[in-house]
Amino acid sequence: MPEIQDSTLIDKKENLATYRRDERMLVIDPDSSSWQVLSGDFVQVFSRLRRGQPFSSLVSDHTGLNPDGLRFFIDDLFKHGFVRLNGRYFPEKINIWDNRHIMPTLTVDLGSPCSLLCPGCKRGDVKTSGFGADEILHAGWDSVYNIIFGGGEPLLNPALPGIIKDLYNKADGRVRLLIQTGGIPLEEDMLEILACCRVNMIFRLDGPLEIHDRRRILPDGSGSFLKTREALQKAKDRRIEVGAMSQIQSPDELIPVLEYFISEGLTQAAISLATPGELREAAWEEWGKAQIKALEYLKHKNETDSSIFHLYDLKHLIRGLISPQRVYPCRFSPCAAGSRVKYMGADGRVYPCRELIECGASADKDELASRTVDSLPRCRRCAFRNICAGGCPARAYSEYGTIMREDASCAYMRYMIPELMWLIYENPGIPAAMGVNVS
Ligand code: SF4
Ligand code: SF4
Repeated sequence: MPEIQDSTLIDKKENLATYRRDERMLVIDPDSSSWQVLSGDFVQVFSRLRRGQPFSSLVSDHTGLNPDGLRFFIDDLFKHGFVRLNGRYFPEKINIWDNRHIMPTLTVDLGSPCSLLCPGCKRGDVKTSGFGADEILHAGWDSVYNIIFGGGEPLLNPALPGIIKDLYNKADGRVRLLIQTGGIPLEEDMLEILACCRVNMIFRLDGPLEIHDRRRILPDGSGSFLKTREALQKAKDRRIEVGAMSQIQSPDELIPVLEYFISEGLTQAAISLATPGELREAAWEEWGKAQIKALEYLKHKNETDSSIFHLYDLKHLIRGLISPQRVYPCRFSPCAAGSRVKYMGADGRVYPCRELIECGASADKDELASRTVDSLPRCRRCAFRNICAGGCPARAYSEYGTIMREDASCAYMRYMIPELMWLIYENPGIPAAMGVNVS
């Protein structure tokens, strides 16, 4: 039984955010991001809580309710940080912005040309300074970290096989190697190296042929789908870990793309909307609705299949709702650009993050460090600030011409966060079904 005496004084925290749905109430503490859904008589008990109210008076205000049930209810509010008892908050204090839990990631652009001519691509000719494994390792961290080869088509770079072998041999298990690729070309000797050095392959595959070939075009004007799919199959045959990174043009394409990936035996993907910077608020909300449908679809699939399909972003978002320990670099305040995320450009210089360089935003470390949820006018008042963290400075820059604004996808986050909270409350099995495990 919780140690709440008749004389215990109960104080409700002042800046809690509440949302009603039917007879229920979602309560969020914007400071800690702790949340809870109240239902039944407890909505009224919570709404009528007065400052400095003794527990005995709460019991007499609600004579129809069992005093022990009220005791458990107040104890639960206390543990969520929604009330103080005798002037004290629940002692558990976690620094949610302790970035040591983020796996560091270095993205490397070897200055490779590309095998595709996707419309809207701004890459053009890239000059490389010809760096190798030593310079790449020097740009990394002392702890275990990811190195992602991206930019153009890394497979077209003749230096790639040697760099991968050197990194694998010199890093002594400290790095996890990944390559972002369209898979064109993928020769047998390269496959051998990728398999031996345990390189994960992230295929730029937008979905089935009719979706992929709208954008991923070969120099002769034909679509690249068949070649990318063939390379994916070869990698799978070699037991290389594979995933997809996709851009789709419309929220309606999300489920068909997922269905296709699952039919191909893929188990992980990151799917984004093309040109998100041009989307308006209503479109971001549509994207949120499509993600909720995807969640329902994947939950059913993952619960009935032997393997789990991981849809990143959605998975990161769900994790952020059930654990105060933040691990996703892009939902951090300030974001992890420059600290746990770095980008080594083809010029051999190290920048805070590729996204910032690509959109031309400031990569000044001090300015990035000053972009916190408390320094962004809209975010500092937002109930979701310690979950969303103000989003990406590059996306803010693309939309507003400054990094000191909220993420352009703010409407998406304001829709998704409460919606996911309601859904997880109704269905506590959602995190596990989506592959989110929090110890
Ligand atoms: S970007 Fe929007 S949802 Fe996120 S913290 Fe800022 S105001 Fe809130
Ligand atoms: S700049 Fe954007 S993409 Fe890069 S780490 Fe920060 S939030 Fe993530």
